[in-house]
Amino acid sequence: MISEEEARNRILQDIRPLPPRRISLKCALNCFAAEGYLARLPLPGFDNSAMDGYAVVASSCGPSKRLRVVGEQPAGADRQLRVSFGEAVRIFTGAPLPAGADAVIMQEDVTREGVEITVKTDVHPGDYVRRRACDLSEGQKILTKGERIRPTILALLASQGLAEVMVGGEASAGIISTGDELARPGEKLQAGQIYESNSVLLEALLQRCGVNERSVEQCPDDPGALIAAFKRGVQHHVLLINGGVSVGEHDFVKSAMQSLGGEIDIWRVAIKPGKPFLYGRVGKCIVFGLPGNPVSAFVTFLQFVRPAILKMMGGADDEFRLQTVPARLTVDLQNGGDRAHYIRGKLGNGCFTPVGRQESHALFGLSQSNALLRLAPGTEIKHDTAVDVEIWD
Ligand code: AMP
Ligand code: MG
Repeated sequence: MISEEEARNRILQDIRPLPPRRISLKCALNCFAAEGYLARLPLPGFDNSAMDGYAVVASSCGPSKRLRVVGEQPAGADRQLRVSFGEAVRIFTGAPLPAGADAVIMQEDVTREGVEITVKTDVHPGDYVRRRACDLSEGQKILTKGERIRPTILALLASQGLAEVMVGGEASAGIISTGDELARPGEKLQAGQIYESNSVLLEALLQRCGVNERSVEQCPDDPGALIAAFKRGVQHHVLLINGGVSVGEHDFVKSAMQSLGGEIDIWRVAIKPGKPFLYGRVGKCIVFGLPGNPVSAFVTFLQFVRPAILKMMGGADDEFRLQTVPARLTVDLQNGGDRAHYIRGKLGNGCFTPVGRQESHALFGLSQSNALLRLAPGTEIKHDTAVDVEIWD
Protein backbone atom coordinates (compact mmCIF):
# COMPACT_ATOMS: atom_id res chain seq x y z
CA MET A 1 0.00 0.00 0.00
CA ILE A 2 1.45 3.41 -0.95
CA SER A 3 1.18 6.58 1.11
CA GLU A 4 -1.42 9.14 0.16
CA GLU A 5 1.33 11.63 -0.75
CA GLU A 6 2.92 9.16 -3.15
CA ALA A 7 -0.49 8.37 -4.62
CA ARG A 8 -1.22 12.06 -5.21
CA ASN A 9 2.19 12.64 -6.77
CA ARG A 10 1.79 9.66 -9.08
CA ILE A 11 -1.65 10.83 -10.15
CA LEU A 12 -0.46 14.38 -10.78
CA GLN A 13 2.50 13.13 -12.81
CA ASP A 14 0.13 11.12 -14.95
CA ILE A 15 -2.43 13.89 -15.62
CA ARG A 16 -2.01 16.09 -18.70
CA PRO A 17 -3.74 19.47 -18.95
CA LEU A 18 -6.58 19.66 -21.50
CA PRO A 19 -6.15 21.96 -24.52
CA PRO A 20 -6.82 25.60 -23.58
CA ARG A 21 -9.76 27.61 -24.91
CA ARG A 22 -10.68 31.26 -25.37
CA ILE A 23 -13.84 32.24 -23.51
CA SER A 24 -15.73 35.40 -22.66
CA LEU A 25 -15.00 37.04 -19.32
CA LYS A 26 -18.61 36.34 -18.31
CA CYS A 27 -17.86 32.60 -18.32
CA ALA A 28 -14.31 32.71 -16.94
CA LEU A 29 -14.92 32.95 -13.19
CA ASN A 30 -12.85 30.29 -11.35
CA CYS A 31 -11.19 29.06 -14.55
CA PHE A 32 -7.39 28.98 -14.69
CA ALA A 33 -5.47 31.37 -16.94
CA ALA A 34 -3.88 29.39 -19.80
CA GLU A 35 -1.22 32.05 -20.34
CA GLY A 36 0.33 34.98 -18.50
CA TYR A 37 -1.12 38.43 -19.14
CA LEU A 38 0.70 41.77 -19.09
CA ALA A 39 -1.02 45.15 -18.78
CA ARG A 40 -1.45 46.69 -22.21
CA LEU A 41 -2.99 49.86 -20.77
CA PRO A 42 -1.86 51.80 -17.70
CA LEU A 43 -4.30 52.45 -14.86
CA PRO A 44 -5.46 55.18 -14.69
CA GLY A 45 -5.16 55.69 -18.43
CA PHE A 46 -4.81 59.52 -18.09
CA ASP A 47 -4.47 62.12 -15.32
CA ASN A 48 -7.98 62.63 -13.92
CA SER A 49 -9.91 64.10 -11.03
CA ALA A 50 -10.60 62.09 -7.85
CA MET A 51 -13.44 64.43 -6.81
CA ASP A 52 -16.24 66.65 -8.02
CA GLY A 53 -14.70 70.15 -7.72
CA TYR A 54 -12.44 72.58 -9.56
CA ALA A 55 -9.20 71.95 -11.45
CA VAL A 56 -6.68 74.66 -10.60
CA VAL A 57 -3.05 75.76 -10.52
CA ALA A 58 -2.21 75.04 -6.86
CA SER A 59 0.17 78.02 -6.53
CA SER A 60 -2.69 80.42 -7.36
CA CYS A 61 -4.86 79.05 -4.53
CA GLY A 62 -5.13 79.44 -0.75
CA PRO A 63 -7.74 80.58 1.79
CA SER A 64 -9.79 83.57 0.46
CA LYS A 65 -8.20 83.46 -3.03
CA ARG A 66 -10.68 84.12 -5.86
CA LEU A 67 -10.57 82.26 -9.16
CA ARG A 68 -12.47 82.68 -12.43
CA VAL A 69 -14.28 79.56 -13.76
CA VAL A 70 -13.33 79.26 -17.45
CA GLY A 71 -15.01 76.00 -18.43
CA GLU A 72 -16.44 72.67 -17.42
CA GLN A 73 -15.01 69.17 -17.91
CA PRO A 74 -17.36 66.26 -17.12
CA ALA A 75 -16.24 62.60 -17.22
CA GLY A 76 -16.24 61.43 -20.84
CA ALA A 77 -14.95 63.19 -23.93
CA ASP A 78 -11.84 65.31 -23.29
CA ARG A 79 -12.77 68.95 -24.08
CA GLN A 80 -9.06 69.87 -24.33
CA LEU A 81 -9.44 72.72 -21.80
CA ARG A 82 -6.59 74.72 -20.31
CA VAL A 83 -6.26 76.33 -16.86
CA SER A 84 -3.95 79.29 -16.18
CA PHE A 85 -2.89 81.04 -12.97
CA GLY A 86 -6.00 82.49 -11.27
CA GLU A 87 -8.41 80.28 -13.23
CA ALA A 88 -10.46 77.17 -12.46
CA VAL A 89 -12.29 74.54 -14.54
CA ARG A 90 -15.39 72.93 -13.06
CA ILE A 91 -14.52 69.19 -13.02
CA PHE A 92 -16.13 65.89 -12.03
CA THR A 93 -14.81 62.56 -10.72
CA GLY A 94 -12.99 60.63 -13.45
CA ALA A 95 -12.85 63.59 -15.86
CA PRO A 96 -9.51 64.28 -17.63
CA LEU A 97 -7.45 66.97 -15.95
CA PRO A 98 -7.24 70.14 -18.09
CA ALA A 99 -3.79 71.18 -19.33
CA GLY A 100 -2.02 73.48 -16.87
CA ALA A 101 -3.93 72.21 -13.83
CA ASP A 102 -1.95 70.43 -11.08
CA ALA A 103 -4.61 70.08 -8.38
CA VAL A 104 -8.34 69.71 -7.78
CA ILE A 105 -10.21 71.51 -5.01
CA MET A 106 -13.23 69.64 -3.63
CA GLN A 107 -16.45 71.51 -4.33
CA GLU A 108 -17.11 71.56 -0.55
CA ASP A 109 -13.95 73.66 -0.13
CA VAL A 110 -15.08 76.61 -2.28
CA THR A 111 -18.02 79.01 -2.44
CA ARG A 112 -19.26 79.84 -5.88
CA GLU A 113 -20.88 83.03 -7.10
CA GLY A 114 -21.57 83.22 -10.84
CA VAL A 115 -18.31 82.55 -12.70
CA GLU A 116 -16.19 83.10 -9.60
CA ILE A 117 -15.17 80.78 -6.77
CA THR A 118 -13.59 81.65 -3.44
CA VAL A 119 -11.20 79.06 -2.08
CA LYS A 120 -11.59 78.09 1.60
CA THR A 121 -8.50 75.87 2.12
CA ASP A 122 -4.83 75.41 1.36
CA VAL A 123 -4.21 73.66 -1.95
CA HIS A 124 -1.12 71.59 -2.79
CA PRO A 125 0.07 70.29 -6.15
CA GLY A 126 -1.33 66.81 -6.68
CA ASP A 127 -4.38 67.25 -4.41
CA TYR A 128 -7.23 65.00 -5.62
CA VAL A 129 -5.44 64.21 -8.87
CA ARG A 130 -5.16 60.58 -9.96
CA ARG A 131 -2.01 60.40 -12.05
CA ARG A 132 -1.74 58.25 -15.17
CA ALA A 133 -0.30 54.76 -14.37
CA CYS A 134 -0.07 55.42 -10.60
CA ASP A 135 -1.95 52.12 -10.00
CA LEU A 136 -0.66 49.94 -12.84
CA SER A 137 2.00 50.48 -15.51
CA GLU A 138 1.99 49.18 -19.06
CA GLY A 139 3.79 45.85 -19.28
CA GLN A 140 3.23 44.97 -15.62
CA LYS A 141 2.16 41.35 -14.93
CA ILE A 142 -1.56 41.15 -14.19
CA LEU A 143 -2.25 37.41 -14.40
CA THR A 144 0.02 34.36 -14.13
CA LYS A 145 -0.44 31.14 -16.09
CA GLY A 146 -2.37 28.65 -13.96
CA GLU A 147 -3.77 31.31 -11.62
CA ARG A 148 -7.43 31.09 -10.69
CA ILE A 149 -9.55 33.85 -12.19
CA ARG A 150 -11.29 35.60 -9.31
CA PRO A 151 -13.99 38.30 -9.60
CA THR A 152 -11.40 41.07 -9.09
CA ILE A 153 -9.15 39.57 -11.79
CA LEU A 154 -12.14 39.59 -14.17
CA ALA A 155 -12.53 43.31 -13.46
CA LEU A 156 -8.82 43.92 -14.08
CA LEU A 157 -8.98 42.08 -17.43
CA ALA A 158 -12.05 44.12 -18.40
CA SER A 159 -10.21 47.33 -17.46
CA GLN A 160 -7.66 46.33 -20.10
CA GLY A 161 -10.36 46.24 -22.73
CA LEU A 162 -10.33 42.45 -22.93
CA ALA A 163 -13.67 40.74 -23.58
CA GLU A 164 -12.16 37.23 -23.65
CA VAL A 165 -9.42 35.33 -21.87
CA MET A 166 -7.49 32.12 -22.61
CA VAL A 167 -8.25 29.52 -19.93
CA GLY A 168 -7.53 25.83 -19.33
CA GLY A 169 -9.75 23.20 -20.96
CA GLU A 170 -12.97 22.13 -19.32
CA ALA A 171 -13.09 18.59 -17.95
CA SER A 172 -16.29 16.56 -18.17
CA ALA A 173 -17.00 13.94 -15.53
CA GLY A 174 -19.24 10.93 -15.05
CA ILE A 175 -20.33 9.53 -11.70
CA ILE A 176 -21.48 5.95 -11.16
CA SER A 177 -22.81 5.02 -7.72
CA THR A 178 -22.80 1.26 -7.22
CA GLY A 179 -24.67 -0.89 -4.72
CA ASP A 180 -27.75 -3.13 -4.51
CA GLU A 181 -28.72 -1.34 -1.30
CA LEU A 182 -29.09 2.10 -2.85
CA ALA A 183 -32.46 3.82 -3.25
CA ARG A 184 -32.87 7.23 -4.87
CA PRO A 185 -33.97 10.11 -2.64
CA GLY A 186 -37.72 10.47 -3.19
CA GLU A 187 -38.26 6.69 -3.62
CA LYS A 188 -39.81 4.49 -0.93
CA LEU A 189 -37.13 2.89 1.20
CA GLN A 190 -37.31 -0.93 1.50
CA ALA A 191 -35.92 -2.85 4.47
CA GLY A 192 -32.12 -3.04 4.21
CA GLN A 193 -31.90 -0.18 1.74
CA ILE A 194 -30.28 3.22 2.25
CA TYR A 195 -30.69 6.41 0.33
CA GLU A 196 -27.94 7.11 -2.16
CA SER A 197 -26.09 10.24 -1.07
CA ASN A 198 -22.65 10.05 -2.67
CA SER A 199 -23.59 11.16 -6.17
CA VAL A 200 -25.04 14.46 -5.00
CA LEU A 201 -21.94 15.00 -2.82
CA LEU A 202 -19.54 14.23 -5.65
CA GLU A 203 -21.51 16.35 -8.12
CA ALA A 204 -21.36 19.32 -5.77
CA LEU A 205 -17.61 18.84 -5.29
CA LEU A 206 -17.12 18.59 -9.05
CA GLN A 207 -19.14 21.74 -9.53
CA ARG A 208 -16.81 23.53 -7.14
CA CYS A 209 -13.87 22.39 -9.27
CA GLY A 210 -15.53 24.07 -12.25
CA VAL A 211 -16.74 20.84 -13.89
CA ASN A 212 -20.06 21.77 -15.45
CA GLU A 213 -20.52 18.84 -17.81
CA ARG A 214 -21.53 15.91 -15.63
CA SER A 215 -23.56 12.70 -15.82
CA VAL A 216 -24.76 10.54 -12.94
CA GLU A 217 -25.80 6.89 -12.95
CA GLN A 218 -26.80 4.43 -10.31
CA CYS A 219 -25.82 0.82 -10.86
CA PRO A 220 -26.57 -2.45 -9.02
CA ASP A 221 -23.81 -4.83 -7.90
CA ASP A 222 -23.96 -6.73 -11.15
CA PRO A 223 -20.91 -7.21 -13.40
CA GLY A 224 -22.88 -6.87 -16.66
CA ALA A 225 -24.69 -3.70 -15.56
CA LEU A 226 -21.44 -2.24 -14.30
CA ILE A 227 -19.61 -2.91 -17.56
CA ALA A 228 -22.45 -1.25 -19.50
CA ALA A 229 -22.39 1.76 -17.17
CA PHE A 230 -18.59 1.90 -17.48
CA LYS A 231 -18.81 2.03 -21.28
CA ARG A 232 -21.09 5.07 -21.07
CA GLY A 233 -19.03 6.70 -18.32
CA VAL A 234 -15.67 6.50 -20.11
CA GLN A 235 -16.95 8.95 -22.73
CA HIS A 236 -16.00 11.62 -20.18
CA HIS A 237 -12.51 12.88 -19.38
CA VAL A 238 -12.91 11.57 -15.83
CA LEU A 239 -15.07 8.83 -14.38
CA LEU A 240 -15.79 8.53 -10.65
CA ILE A 241 -17.12 5.16 -9.56
CA ASN A 242 -18.10 4.93 -5.96
CA GLY A 243 -18.70 1.79 -3.96
CA GLY A 244 -17.66 -1.71 -4.98
CA VAL A 245 -13.93 -0.90 -5.03
CA SER A 246 -13.10 -3.18 -2.10
CA VAL A 247 -12.43 -6.91 -2.01
CA GLY A 248 -15.87 -8.31 -1.15
CA GLU A 249 -17.73 -10.80 -3.37
CA HIS A 250 -20.00 -7.93 -4.44
CA ASP A 251 -17.22 -5.52 -5.36
CA PHE A 252 -16.97 -5.64 -9.15
CA VAL A 253 -15.30 -2.37 -10.11
CA LYS A 254 -11.80 -3.77 -10.43
CA SER A 255 -12.87 -6.75 -12.51
CA ALA A 256 -15.16 -4.62 -14.71
CA MET A 257 -12.28 -2.30 -15.42
CA GLN A 258 -9.95 -5.17 -16.24
CA SER A 259 -12.46 -6.78 -18.57
CA LEU A 260 -12.69 -3.47 -20.48
CA GLY A 261 -8.92 -3.49 -20.98
CA GLY A 262 -8.39 -0.72 -18.44
CA GLU A 263 -5.14 -0.20 -16.58
CA ILE A 264 -5.10 0.08 -12.81
CA ASP A 265 -2.16 2.20 -11.63
CA ILE A 266 -3.04 2.53 -7.96
CA TRP A 267 -5.13 0.28 -5.81
CA ARG A 268 -5.47 0.92 -2.07
CA VAL A 269 -3.77 3.85 -0.40
CA ALA A 270 -2.59 4.23 3.21
CA ILE A 271 -5.19 6.82 4.09
CA LYS A 272 -7.93 6.69 6.69
CA PRO A 273 -10.69 7.01 5.73
CA GLY A 274 -10.29 5.91 2.14
CA LYS A 275 -8.22 2.74 1.87
CA PRO A 276 -10.29 1.11 -0.89
CA PHE A 277 -9.24 3.56 -3.60
CA LEU A 278 -8.44 2.93 -7.22
CA TYR A 279 -6.83 5.03 -9.93
CA GLY A 280 -6.34 4.06 -13.53
CA ARG A 281 -7.66 4.59 -16.99
CA VAL A 282 -9.88 2.99 -19.59
CA GLY A 283 -8.82 4.25 -23.00
CA LYS A 284 -8.32 8.00 -22.59
CA CYS A 285 -10.65 8.28 -19.59
CA ILE A 286 -9.13 8.74 -16.14
CA VAL A 287 -10.95 6.47 -13.69
CA PHE A 288 -11.16 6.96 -9.94
CA GLY A 289 -12.69 4.21 -7.83
CA LEU A 290 -13.80 5.83 -4.60
CA PRO A 291 -14.98 4.06 -1.45
CA GLY A 292 -18.74 3.84 -0.92
CA ASN A 293 -18.58 5.13 2.63
CA PRO A 294 -19.50 8.82 2.37
CA VAL A 295 -16.67 10.23 4.50
CA SER A 296 -14.13 8.13 2.60
CA ALA A 297 -15.56 9.27 -0.73
CA PHE A 298 -15.31 12.89 0.45
CA VAL A 299 -11.74 12.68 1.77
CA THR A 300 -10.42 10.79 -1.26
CA PHE A 301 -12.12 13.25 -3.59
CA LEU A 302 -10.39 16.19 -1.91
CA GLN A 303 -7.00 14.47 -1.65
CA PHE A 304 -6.81 12.81 -5.09
CA VAL A 305 -9.62 13.72 -7.49
CA ARG A 306 -9.66 17.47 -6.92
CA PRO A 307 -5.92 18.00 -7.59
CA ALA A 308 -6.15 15.85 -10.73
CA ILE A 309 -9.12 17.76 -12.10
CA LEU A 310 -7.58 21.14 -11.30
CA LYS A 311 -4.39 20.14 -13.09
CA MET A 312 -6.43 18.92 -16.07
CA MET A 313 -8.19 22.28 -16.19
CA GLY A 314 -4.91 24.19 -16.22
CA GLY A 315 -4.42 25.03 -12.54
CA ALA A 316 -0.89 25.77 -11.31
CA ASP A 317 0.71 23.54 -8.65
CA ASP A 318 -0.16 25.87 -5.79
CA GLU A 319 -3.86 25.65 -6.70
CA PHE A 320 -4.06 21.87 -6.19
CA ARG A 321 -3.74 21.79 -2.42
CA LEU A 322 -6.57 22.71 -0.13
CA GLN A 323 -5.91 25.92 1.73
CA THR A 324 -4.19 25.32 5.08
CA VAL A 325 -4.82 27.44 8.13
CA PRO A 326 -2.92 27.40 11.44
CA ALA A 327 -5.02 26.40 14.44
CA ARG A 328 -4.72 25.34 18.05
CA LEU A 329 -5.79 21.77 18.72
CA THR A 330 -8.36 21.56 21.54
CA VAL A 331 -7.98 17.83 22.37
CA ASP A 332 -5.27 15.13 22.52
CA LEU A 333 -5.08 13.00 19.37
CA GLN A 334 -3.08 9.94 18.47
CA ASN A 335 -2.72 7.73 15.45
CA GLY A 336 -1.32 4.32 16.36
CA GLY A 337 -2.10 2.93 12.91
CA ASP A 338 -0.06 2.75 9.73
CA ARG A 339 -2.27 5.03 7.62
CA ALA A 340 -2.43 8.83 7.69
CA HIS A 341 -5.65 9.73 9.48
CA TYR A 342 -7.67 12.68 8.25
CA ILE A 343 -9.62 13.92 11.26
CA ARG A 344 -12.80 15.85 10.49
CA GLY A 345 -13.48 18.83 12.68
CA LYS A 346 -14.54 22.36 13.15
CA LEU A 347 -12.20 25.30 12.77
CA GLY A 348 -13.41 28.35 14.65
CA ASN A 349 -11.70 31.22 16.49
CA GLY A 350 -8.33 29.77 15.59
CA CYS A 351 -9.10 26.42 17.27
CA PHE A 352 -9.62 22.99 15.70
CA THR A 353 -11.98 20.54 17.44
CA PRO A 354 -12.76 17.08 16.03
CA VAL A 355 -16.47 16.64 15.35
CA GLY A 356 -18.58 13.49 15.62
CA ARG A 357 -17.56 9.89 15.22
CA GLN A 358 -14.31 9.57 13.29
CA GLU A 359 -15.67 6.66 11.27
CA SER A 360 -16.00 6.44 7.54
CA HIS A 361 -19.80 6.09 7.50
CA ALA A 362 -20.40 9.04 9.89
CA LEU A 363 -21.93 11.54 7.48
CA PHE A 364 -23.54 13.72 10.14
CA GLY A 365 -20.21 14.54 11.81
CA LEU A 366 -18.75 15.31 8.40
CA SER A 367 -21.64 17.63 7.61
CA GLN A 368 -20.87 19.65 10.77
CA SER A 369 -17.15 19.93 9.93
CA ASN A 370 -15.27 22.47 7.90
CA ALA A 371 -11.66 21.32 8.21
CA LEU A 372 -9.38 18.27 8.05
CA LEU A 373 -6.38 17.59 10.24
CA ARG A 374 -3.83 15.12 8.89
CA LEU A 375 -2.47 12.91 11.63
CA ALA A 376 0.60 11.07 10.34
CA PRO A 377 0.96 7.34 11.17
CA GLY A 378 2.42 6.71 14.63
CA THR A 379 2.03 10.26 15.91
CA GLU A 380 0.48 11.80 18.98
CA ILE A 381 -0.48 15.48 19.25
CA LYS A 382 -1.35 17.05 22.61
CA HIS A 383 -4.08 19.64 23.07
CA ASP A 384 -2.97 23.28 22.73
CA THR A 385 -0.44 22.27 20.06
CA ALA A 386 -0.31 24.49 16.96
CA VAL A 387 -1.38 22.50 13.91
CA ASP A 388 -2.17 23.25 10.25
CA VAL A 389 -5.62 22.22 9.10
CA GLU A 390 -6.98 21.99 5.58
CA ILE A 391 -10.21 23.84 4.92
CA TRP A 392 -12.76 23.33 2.20
CA ASP A 393 -15.48 25.78 3.18
P1 AMP B 1 -18.76 -0.32 -0.56
O1 AMP B 1 -17.61 0.60 -0.82
O2 AMP B 1 -19.56 -0.60 -1.79
O3 AMP B 1 -18.33 -1.56 0.15
O4 AMP B 1 -19.73 0.45 0.42
C1 AMP B 1 -19.28 0.84 1.71
C2 AMP B 1 -20.41 1.47 2.49
O5 AMP B 1 -20.82 2.66 1.86
C3 AMP B 1 -21.64 0.64 2.62
O6 AMP B 1 -22.17 0.81 3.93
C4 AMP B 1 -22.57 1.21 1.59
O7 AMP B 1 -23.92 0.99 1.89
C5 AMP B 1 -22.22 2.67 1.63
N1 AMP B 1 -22.47 3.29 0.33
C6 AMP B 1 -22.03 2.82 -0.86
N2 AMP B 1 -22.43 3.62 -1.86
C7 AMP B 1 -23.12 4.62 -1.29
C8 AMP B 1 -23.79 5.76 -1.81
N3 AMP B 1 -23.78 6.03 -3.11
N4 AMP B 1 -24.40 6.60 -0.93
C9 AMP B 1 -24.36 6.35 0.39
N5 AMP B 1 -23.76 5.29 0.93
C10 AMP B 1 -23.15 4.42 0.11
MG1 MG C 1 -21.11 -1.74 -2.34
